[in-house]
Amino acid sequence: MAIPEPVSMSERPAVRAPALPKSPRVFDVVAPSDPALLDKLKALQARYVGADALALTHAALTVEFARQTCIVSSFGSESVVLLHLVAQVDPTTPILFLNTGKLFGETMRYRDRLQERLGLTDVRAIGPHPADLAAEDPDGTVWSRNPDRCCHIRKVLPLQRAISGFSAEITGRKRFQTKARQGLTPIELNGSRFVFNPLAQWTIEDLNAHIDAHELPRHPLVADGYLSIGCMPCTDRVRPGGDYRSGRWAGQDKEECGIHENLAGDGI
Ligand code: SF4
Repeated sequence: MAIPEPVSMSERPAVRAPALPKSPRVFDVVAPSDPALLDKLKALQARYVGADALALTHAALTVEFARQTCIVSSFGSESVVLLHLVAQVDPTTPILFLNTGKLFGETMRYRDRLQERLGLTDVRAIGPHPADLAAEDPDGTVWSRNPDRCCHIRKVLPLQRAISGFSAEITGRKRFQTKARQGLTPIELNGSRFVFNPLAQWTIEDLNAHIDAHELPRHPLVADGYLSIGCMPCTDRVRPGGDYRSGRWAGQDKEECGIHENLAGDGI
């Protein structure tokens, strides 16, 4: 049988990023509509009420959604805590690492270091589609004119594509991170996907204590004044007295990347 010739990028049908919704963005989970899923959510919340972070991670990975659960990690300033919990339960868990093409070199090297130190065997780098970049950000400067659009192409769409096959995800989101996360619960339902937030109630002091107690490596930029680390063009040092996320999209009316409209990343 003849083997088909590979199709060049120029011959492939264009994959265009859909337009952003015109209505105000909602930085929260998508309201579930299936009553059976809502019943399951209530049952899970009741079953694991009061469970600590490791127990909740264990529940997702080995009891409730074994082999159907992924992690989304930025390998940012506190990502090591969730990755450490996951490594204790199952180091073969798929970890989706969003490489926007705009990350710090330090983050790439930190990913390699943590992968080796924690024994993680399935770290998957995902990124923007070349057709989306060619159509909407050919010179890589959209972040400076329209950061929502840039995040949509470089974060939201790649994660949507990568996560669609999973029934559940575990995130490292915490209540203290943003105003939008203050009502975060340990287990949520996002459309038809269950979301576990084992660190929802942790404080920055809890995170630091865990890192110190287990002698985990810190992101190298933390020592340089970066507290919440994302893409290089949109991350600044936090000024003395500034709040934790004030270095992200500094000076702009933006505190989330849009992932949380329908996806949930870790500090992304
Ligand atoms: S954080 Fe900045 S560079 Fe990264 S995807 Fe969003 S707008 Fe683009």
